[in-house]
Amino acid sequence: MHESKILNHLGENREEYFNAVSPPIIQSSNFVFHNLDDFRKAFSDEKKHSIYTRGNNPTVKILRQKLAALEKAEDCLVFGSGSGAIAMAIMSQVHQGAHVVCVQNSYSWTFNLLTEYLPKFGVEHTFVDGKSLEAIENAIQPNTTLLFLESPTSILLDIQDLKGCAAIAKKHGIVTAIDNSYSSPIFQRPIEHGIDIVIHSGTKYLNGHSDVVVGVVCSSKEIITKMFYHEFMTLGGIISPTDAALVIRGLRTLPLRMKQSDESCKKVVKYLENHPKVQSLNYPLSPSFPQYDLAQQQMSGAGGLFSVYLNTDSIEKVEAFFHKLNHFLLAVSWGGHESLILPFCAFYNIPGKKDPEKPWNLVRIYIGLEDPDWLIKDLEQALEVL
Ligand SMILES: *Cc1c(COP(=O)(O)O)cnc(C)c1O
Repeated sequence: MHESKILNHLGENREEYFNAVSPPIIQSSNFVFHNLDDFRKAFSDEKKHSIYTRGNNPTVKILRQKLAALEKAEDCLVFGSGSGAIAMAIMSQVHQGAHVVCVQNSYSWTFNLLTEYLPKFGVEHTFVDGKSLEAIENAIQPNTTLLFLESPTSILLDIQDLKGCAAIAKKHGIVTAIDNSYSSPIFQRPIEHGIDIVIHSGTKYLNGHSDVVVGVVCSSKEIITKMFYHEFMTLGGIISPTDAALVIRGLRTLPLRMKQSDESCKKVVKYLENHPKVQSLNYPLSPSFPQYDLAQQQMSGAGGLFSVYLNTDSIEKVEAFFHKLNHFLLAVSWGGHESLILPFCAFYNIPGKKDPEKPWNLVRIYIGLEDPDWLIKDLEQALEVL
């Protein structure tokens, strides 16, 4: 189905709601039945029918249909956050005594789930260098049930060979899942490469306006139906119909926003790449990126997120650089309209106490929808303090 049809029409049966162009927000916790037969029928297939909003809600369903189609998946569930989506997708594929292979440098709460939470239930894990298919295959054990990927990762932008990973997993009879937040379905569709489960922090590009926290899991009918009756209904981490309507609105402009972020970011990257105050830069679609060829094979764009190592040995100078910026906001997250900057010295270092093990000169930059030349001028004047 054409992307334009998905984003503008799919799931929107307008004649059912007064021919309104914009879908209604069905802000109702429960749904009424007029006779016992209909009630019984609905209960026999709760995933299909609106009985109670923890399971099904018509506004949320429109969003689910669009997201599944964008990822070329058979079905989709949406959750109260990206972390909730990751947790429930992983939990749906493990049991006591199972083992998960996960790539290094994955999102911090994915790391926490595997290292702190799931061991309580006897689920083991191994982190591997996702850049090496050999390392991935070597980490698979007889009790491995899941290979968890994040490509690119959201700080150092490491990439995994999706086709290669899918082939290894099929050979060993294990399921593959990927956190696809970085690329969005506009620039990378992992199911086309053989990956089983695609997850998003919809908080980032999918909603795109920095006003909703939401998570997405797309997969086969079989996997999603099983998840619906187990993790989804049991743990109950849903989004509200109002938030679903906001994400539907965000999706209308997803391709435009991705295109703009991608174009602007390439311009900023080009400016920074050869700047004497920048030591090195990580951006998958820059020809200098070590995995550039692979990135080009599996991604049609890279969006607005990259990281740089500033060329200075003074934390104070790194701090002065941030304080000199006028247009970038100092904040976590990304994928919205606004350009952001995230200095890792905020997490690792206090002034005067440099830890050589930690990348204190590492800075993540997100290029939003502003004029790239205006942003470059801002970076130019701030880099002068280094
Ligand atoms: C933000 C983020 C998440 C977590 O999503 P939330 O919606 O914040 O819970 C997961 N993975 C990546 C790559 C992210 O950037």
